[in-house]
Amino acid sequence: MSDPFFQPPSGTDLPRYAGVPSFMRLPYLPPDHPRRAEVDIGIFGLPWDGATSNRPGARHGPRALRDASTMIRAGNRATGQFPFEAARIADLGDVAMSPVDQDAALANAQGFVRDVLAQGTRPFMVGGDHLCTLTVLRELRAARGAAFGLVLLDSHTDLYPAYFGGKTLTHGNPFRQAIEEGCLDPTACVMIGMRGTSYNDEDFQYGRDRGVRIMPIEECFDLGWPMVMQIAREIVGARPAYVSFDIDFIDPAYAPGTGTPEVGGATSYQALSCVRALRGLDIIGADLVEVSPPFDTGGITAWLGASVMFELLCAMQPA
Ligand code: MN
Ligand code: MN
Repeated sequence: MSDPFFQPPSGTDLPRYAGVPSFMRLPYLPPDHPRRAEVDIGIFGLPWDGATSNRPGARHGPRALRDASTMIRAGNRATGQFPFEAARIADLGDVAMSPVDQDAALANAQGFVRDVLAQGTRPFMVGGDHLCTLTVLRELRAARGAAFGLVLLDSHTDLYPAYFGGKTLTHGNPFRQAIEEGCLDPTACVMIGMRGTSYNDEDFQYGRDRGVRIMPIEECFDLGWPMVMQIAREIVGARPAYVSFDIDFIDPAYAPGTGTPEVGGATSYQALSCVRALRGLDIIGADLVEVSPPFDTGGITAWLGASVMFELLCAMQPA
């Protein structure tokens, strides 16, 4: 299975700080590349934060994550996996998204994802703010012809009603929209790590009324993370599911570079362990979103984000 073309250069041959940075130092295959259709898992950037309601900057996430991800080595010591040998993974580039025209930006992203899915490639999206996820969910729904499940690791449900009095899509409501549009089967959805102050409980109520399992952070720490992830796995079961990782799931002590931080979250180690526990699920796509490099300190959020990406790529391999 292992194809030399899809192996990142080793840092013992070319130092990891050298060279042009692609995600994980994988081959960069733009849309017209002849080998693009061979890709099993395609990583691409949606450098866009036009739906951010608080501090912006996630548009700079893909570039920072490409740079930080060059630090990743080939193997996962915790699991024994070598994900780049087990599957053909590549950097498919970034989507051109207008920073000022939401409709055009989302349409471009959906067109890109549609083409990726048409080639039989599993999507791995790097945001960008969390509304970027909606473009992937919509295209997965269209390609599959059926709703699917979700594992969300986030400090927010992103099931909020529209803000500012309009019908506006924001990074606070992609999953509400995805449920309304029939992309997600709420009974196969689990949301983990919710915390922080709120104006009301409308988002929790919306989810629970439809069968979404919401696990606030108090429940996570009371039960313990292995039990949390066992529950998540039982909820999803054998059903296909998308995995969405908002970097603000992790405590801002470890991940300060994000727009809507909430204190009292998971540690870096707990976050990596949670992702590892997803292996064996039928993961039809994944993302890492909301890394905002302008708010980062010493690049620690980007490095943690790149490390979460690696664990996600491992979790997406067959068990
Ligand atoms: Mn969040
Ligand atoms: Mn989010």
